[in-house]
Amino acid sequence: MTQTTKPLVVITGASSGIGLATAKVLASRGHALLLLARRIEPMTALNLPNTICRAVDVTDREAFSAAVREAEQQFGPVDALINNAGVMLLGAIGQQNPAEWDKMFDVNIKGLLNGVNAVTAGMISRAAGTIINISSVAGRKTFPNHAVYVGTKFAVHGMSENLREELSPHNVRVIVIAPGATETELLSHTTNDDIKAGYHAWKAEMGGKVLSAEDVAHAIDYAYAQPQHVCIREIVLAATRQG
Ligand code: NDP
Repeated sequence: MTQTTKPLVVITGASSGIGLATAKVLASRGHALLLLARRIEPMTALNLPNTICRAVDVTDREAFSAAVREAEQQFGPVDALINNAGVMLLGAIGQQNPAEWDKMFDVNIKGLLNGVNAVTAGMISRAAGTIINISSVAGRKTFPNHAVYVGTKFAVHGMSENLREELSPHNVRVIVIAPGATETELLSHTTNDDIKAGYHAWKAEMGGKVLSAEDVAHAIDYAYAQPQHVCIREIVLAATRQG
């Protein structure tokens, strides 16, 4: 690490979409990075300076913590964790394969908690740090065929508020970023083609003008860049036409 490198940031789900865009922005700010996702190639292909990429499934608590410890050995303590990895498998709750419910709860909730588990003790001991949890507009309001996804994202908001209360006496910030529809791979994993088609039609009604991953990355960068005594508790951003 060079003298001028800024502190270590951990980003989950950095192999595509919002996580990948955020990795590029924070690298441009000079941060050391630990990038985590199951697919390693898209992360290593970024070729970012002072960056470790590891193929880690966020549901694997031990692997998550081990990667964090490894990066801390090289770059010093984690200053920020961006809990971004997530899956959205839309479906009517009475018809959907329950394995899809499990997957969303495992990644969107337990995966996020595994990140919190990996960094919180260190942040408390240093009396500094930032945890940024990526939720969704679907963490504040409901949409058709989103029941389980909405459940996971409402949980992210609730847990984040509680965590903020717990960590604020230790000078650790907890921030929620809640984007609206954003052009990424997220929808592609939904298995119901009719629901996917409906989502595309809804986007078309907005003139196709949804957020880009970069739009969300800039909101994350803005919140994180505030001085440690300023906690932007929540940013909700959506395409102007989303309504
Ligand atoms: P993408 O599908 O493009 O990215 C999701 C990322 O999560 C990928 O890098 C994927 O990597 C990673 N991921 C998924 N499962 C796991 C896992 N088990 N372990 C580790 N990484 C995993 O979608 P987005 O960029 O849109 O999603 C990022 C976040 O933004 C999510 O939390 C999503 O809910 C949220 N969001 C997205 C919105 C949108 O409209 N796109 C709107 C509101 C919120 P890999 O497959 O390589 O593991």
